[in-house]
Amino acid sequence: MRTTRVLRVNPHEPEREAIAEAAEVIRAGGLVAFPTETVYGLGADALNERAVRRIFEVKGRPPDNPIIVHVADKDSIYLLAAEVPPAAEELISRFWPGPLTLVLKRTELVPPITCGGLETVAVRMPAHRVALDLIRESGVPIAAPSANLSGSPSPTTAEHVLRDLGGRIEMVLDGGPTEIGVESTVIDLTVDPPELLRPGGVPVEEIEGVLGRVSVTEAARGLGSFSGRPRSPGMKYRHYAPRCRVVLVEGDPVSVRRKVAELVAELTSQGKRVGVLALDGAEYPGAEVIDLGPRSDLRRVARSLFTSIRELDERGVDVIVAEGVEERGLGLAIMNRLRKASGGETIRA
Ligand code: AMP
Ligand code: MG
Repeated sequence: MRTTRVLRVNPHEPEREAIAEAAEVIRAGGLVAFPTETVYGLGADALNERAVRRIFEVKGRPPDNPIIVHVADKDSIYLLAAEVPPAAEELISRFWPGPLTLVLKRTELVPPITCGGLETVAVRMPAHRVALDLIRESGVPIAAPSANLSGSPSPTTAEHVLRDLGGRIEMVLDGGPTEIGVESTVIDLTVDPPELLRPGGVPVEEIEGVLGRVSVTEAARGLGSFSGRPRSPGMKYRHYAPRCRVVLVEGDPVSVRRKVAELVAELTSQGKRVGVLALDGAEYPGAEVIDLGPRSDLRRVARSLFTSIRELDERGVDVIVAEGVEERGLGLAIMNRLRKASGGETIRA
């Protein structure tokens, strides 16, 4: 056990002393959780094998699940990636800084542990002043997975980080709630056509607007059990899950609402406490309902998704029933997270 120091920082104009102290921890091989525009990351010097090993230890992360390397400028890609195809350069100029991660062949500079033993590295430049200032001040690229215990919902506030990792890491930079609320989109550019490994903050349709066709597998949608070797090791693990059971209901909005009401009635009659992740202000008497917002505003839905799952879990419900959204735009990322949280318990309304 150690004491985790929490430093509050202004997300738009981070205090220089706080950044300097955090950078000192990173340079010394320690762990600092920090806000990005997507979720909170658990950062370590990406080039320091021992520091990165500690990320795996404190999260309980399987050692073959590689970690995204965060950089503070576009040119850093040339230090980390052995080959940077024109497609990568186009995506970088269009979407960086932002919630897009590129998988490319790695250079010798990146230790194998950071890449889960793979020959590739995943790199992104976050659009958040705290993250960028910390990387710059540290003077090294920062490896950072989401700052939660492996398998649990990703943290969108410093409080979430402390609940999962308090006492296990040196420092948390508290810059308030994150803006996007789901993780970055991960694209593998070492295959042709490029493959979506994880839907996230940049809709795949926008990437297709630059690259042409992108392959979107069932695994990337959060579907199926995976017999073959998954392209992205993260795909094979149950993820984003609270302690309680999660049931996802998919279909058109009217049928979904009817089915969720039916499930709430059935489960409460069995004496279960039921939580609902609702959309469009739907009401479900007898259940603890959190309205994620309108289907027409998926940015808002994504922003409150993980925090609402954590909230219902903490209230002690036995089951969370979630209304599904259409797999378009941010909807693909939202459905991927909900499917994985449900561990496959999905009902078609
Ligand atoms: P997290 O850091 O927990 O947000 O998860 C990062 C995601 O990126 C996981 O799904 C990883 O498996 C994936 N990832 C990171 N590096 C690579 C890589 N070199 N090749 C394929 N997938 C990667
Ligand atoms: Mg994660």
